Amino acid sequence: MKLIFFSTLLLLFISTAHAQQKLIGFTDAGSAKQTGWEKQFDAQMNPQNLDTWMKFLSSHPHHVGSEQGKINADYMAGLFRQWGYQTEISTYYVLFPTPKIRRLELLGSKPYKAMLEEPALPADKTSGQKSEQLPPYNAYSADGDVTAELVFVNRGVPADYEELERMGVDVKGKIVIAKYGGSWRGIKPKVAAEHGAIGCLIYSDPADDGYTQGDTYPEGPFRRKDGVQRGSVMDMPVYPGDPLTPGIGATKDAKRLNRNEATTIMKIPVLPISYEDALPLLQSLGGQVVPAAWRGGLPITYHTGPGKDRVHLKLEFNWDTKPVHNIIAKMPGAEFPDQWVIRGNHHDAWVNGAADPLSGMVAELEEARTLGELVKKGYRLKRTVVYCAWDGEEPALLGSTEWAEDHQQELKQKAVAYINSDGNGRGFINASGSHTLEPFFNQVMDDVIDPQTGVSIKERRYAKTIVDADKAGRTKLLGNKYIKLGALGAGSDYSPFIQHMGIASINLGFGGEDQGGEYHSIYDSYDLFTRFKDPGYQYGIALAKTAGRVTIRLANADALPFDFNSFYKTLTDYGTEVKTLLDNQRAETETENKMIKDNLYTLTKDPRKTYSPPALKEPVPFLNFSDFDNSLMQLKMSAEEFQKVYVNAPTLPVEKLNLLNELLYKAERSLTDSNGLPRRPWYKHEIYAPGFYTGYGVKTLPGIREAIEQRNWKEAQESIGIVSRVMQAYNTQVQEATSLLGKPTF
Ligand SMILES: [Zn+2]
Repeated sequence: MKLIFFSTLLLLFISTAHAQQKLIGFTDAGSAKQTGWEKQFDAQMNPQNLDTWMKFLSSHPHHVGSEQGKINADYMAGLFRQWGYQTEISTYYVLFPTPKIRRLELLGSKPYKAMLEEPALPADKTSGQKSEQLPPYNAYSADGDVTAELVFVNRGVPADYEELERMGVDVKGKIVIAKYGGSWRGIKPKVAAEHGAIGCLIYSDPADDGYTQGDTYPEGPFRRKDGVQRGSVMDMPVYPGDPLTPGIGATKDAKRLNRNEATTIMKIPVLPISYEDALPLLQSLGGQVVPAAWRGGLPITYHTGPGKDRVHLKLEFNWDTKPVHNIIAKMPGAEFPDQWVIRGNHHDAWVNGAADPLSGMVAELEEARTLGELVKKGYRLKRTVVYCAWDGEEPALLGSTEWAEDHQQELKQKAVAYINSDGNGRGFINASGSHTLEPFFNQVMDDVIDPQTGVSIKERRYAKTIVDADKAGRTKLLGNKYIKLGALGAGSDYSPFIQHMGIASINLGFGGEDQGGEYHSIYDSYDLFTRFKDPGYQYGIALAKTAGRVTIRLANADALPFDFNSFYKTLTDYGTEVKTLLDNQRAETETENKMIKDNLYTLTKDPRKTYSPPALKEPVPFLNFSDFDNSLMQLKMSAEEFQKVYVNAPTLPVEKLNLLNELLYKAERSLTDSNGLPRRPWYKHEIYAPGFYTGYGVKTLPGIREAIEQRNWKEAQESIGIVSRVMQAYNTQVQEATSLLGKPTF
């Protein structure tokens, strides 16, 4: 009894202490006030609203250029206006191909004509809206009519082609079939074309999101035998957005490239298929049995091919210009109206898109509604909050990229940060973003309660991270409740903000207990979502509380909560990573070259099979990292000095504060280089970029890292120079901020 009493007291004590935690960047009084408003913010939220909007917005297919897409845009604009926002629909005109002819057949002795359709299901009310649906296709595939032998290329990434080469399989003049996964889908046809393939099929293997994983729809949420993943294959690692207007807004009268000048449109025809359609094709393949790691979940022996029967693929598209409708809704700030905190989620889908993207969109709407309520009750925003609902994310981040490019000058001046979300479901918080926002975001996570366990979302994330870590990782992480942000690659609307313009960004979402195989199919519906992804919208509300807090705290902080120490530490880790990468590559190359010279590969090879030894590689040189290391050392000193005086920042006089804040949020801009990355000048951020050969997958210090991976030593050395210069410019910015604050007092 006593013990229980004591522990209750202790709990009380902890939770009060917790509630009084001072918010980073606020004065004592400001912090208490803000915390009070945030309590009201949480209390106002209502999951019923999310359901109402989800039902309406997912009621019909709403892809780019569709009737429902425009209806949804008008509907959401109406909501924002009703909640007190200055709202406009911002429209751009983009190249958006839709299929005219899709034909795939296996010729020869056992002919097969692929169905290329997903059937309507009685258990799924919107699955039968056939006349409004875009059929399964890959947007920005080339037109083409090709007949050739078929080769299975596993995931279709460069390493797979190295393996095929050793097995004596050449894809030149052939059609390839690749599994989804392991890279962004656009990488597969790009690498296939680089190796001389003339067509590409991509299928969903049941081992990835079908029956191997769990019950298929409608019994469970996993992909059916006839389910197909639509999606873009534009070469977005070169530049996203309208292929005809790189770097500028696709306004009605913008100067456009000709279609044949656009480097991001795929060079060969590409088509996504179900595993039901893939099965006869894979069964027709001859050649060797594939390596163990390449095998999927189908009841067949997987062969590389080619087979004796050829495959015919014919694709033709309508290359139309379509409007994309973004909703831009502003709540002006009272003190610094020209400092913008921007929050966005996309609203377009491949079909009905309940999970992707509406689960995130309805959370953003609830955030915006609640903020509108608080403002009516007297909550005063210091900075302007801009809520955005983007169109055309699915094909190529079209809406966000065109808007950002069109407002480039204004955004470079005014954007404090960009907060993104996309699909959302039950589970754990996932956050990636600019590392200057890491301590701030850790504090936000302390204040949001996980709906299923009652602990903070940070506690639950911490537990998950440790449990999932390997044994060595666990020992290192245990007890350290600080959550590292991931780095931003590509895959949603933050790209134009962070990677093109250097606007500090963060991407947020819950997941991990919402698995399924509905992604980009007609079954990503209201019915599936409410049964399997986030029943009751508990995690929709959790997202609204999390992203909403990030937004309103950034909008109301006295001194913006950017932290240079955490950026410095992360950069140190990235530096260590690329140096280790180089050292490992050197050691591995030495070992492997010796193994080749000593004939080890030849002696262990089965003489009845084709498997040639790898080619000898050029030895890996040493690179000079001293400029990088010196810049890092300077940054360490500046960051520490800044952190000492930052405690005084919230109480600075307002004119000085205004100057300081501008320096703080513009610091990220100095991490960009106007020439951009090698062969892709649109990507200007020197610390974070999507991988040229991984797509979604991020490459940190991309100029250095990718040059090392590609064994381009000259470019690697040049990139070290560029990154070091960028770090020095950043350092200058930090020092200026420090001098505004005066000398450290201790
Ligand atoms: Zn999405």
